[in-house]
Amino acid sequence: MQFESYIRDIQGFPKEGILFKDITPLLNNPEARTNCLKVLLDSLKNQKIDKVVGAESRGFFFGMLLAQELNAGFVPVRKPKKLPFDKISASYELEYGSDSLEMHTDAIKKGDRVLIHDDVLATGGTAKAVCELVEKLGGEIVQCNFLMELTFLNGREKIDEYPVFAALTY
Ligand code: IMP
Repeated sequence: MQFESYIRDIQGFPKEGILFKDITPLLNNPEARTNCLKVLLDSLKNQKIDKVVGAESRGFFFGMLLAQELNAGFVPVRKPKKLPFDKISASYELEYGSDSLEMHTDAIKKGDRVLIHDDVLATGGTAKAVCELVEKLGGEIVQCNFLMELTFLNGREKIDEYPVFAALTY
């Protein structure tokens, strides 16, 4: 069963000129979800993971499934002003201006083996900022893991010091 057919292309969302990869059909089909999760897990080759870090918001879906399968903690990385406890932040460049992401200071302990997950690797700005947060707290990044990689945006170059896996490439 191929899960690729459960990713839907939406032309012109959220703005003109963008081809948006919509994962909601995949989330809505348990068989496709199981198949996708297996591909992500197989890429880890039984490496031990202490924490899965998911980027807001589409990184939360499979991030949590991965954490459950790996018997690991789950850590949400969120947009500014969403997290209630002590936090650290990292900023990243957007097409116009910059944005930042936050993580709780007690989410990762020094030496934790961390899997970073998001749905899409595009320019790599988001993933790079998440890596910075993990390393600020002394986590060891085992892999950056994505449902899909938009290779023409070269995001992999921004995180080339870490192992990168994408279940699908476009
Ligand atoms: P980057 O920071 O440019 O690599 O963009 C990655 C972030 O943007 C991820 O958190 C994705 O959820 C989101 N993103 C970028 N392109 C798409 C898309 O086509 N579909 C869904 N999310 C996307």
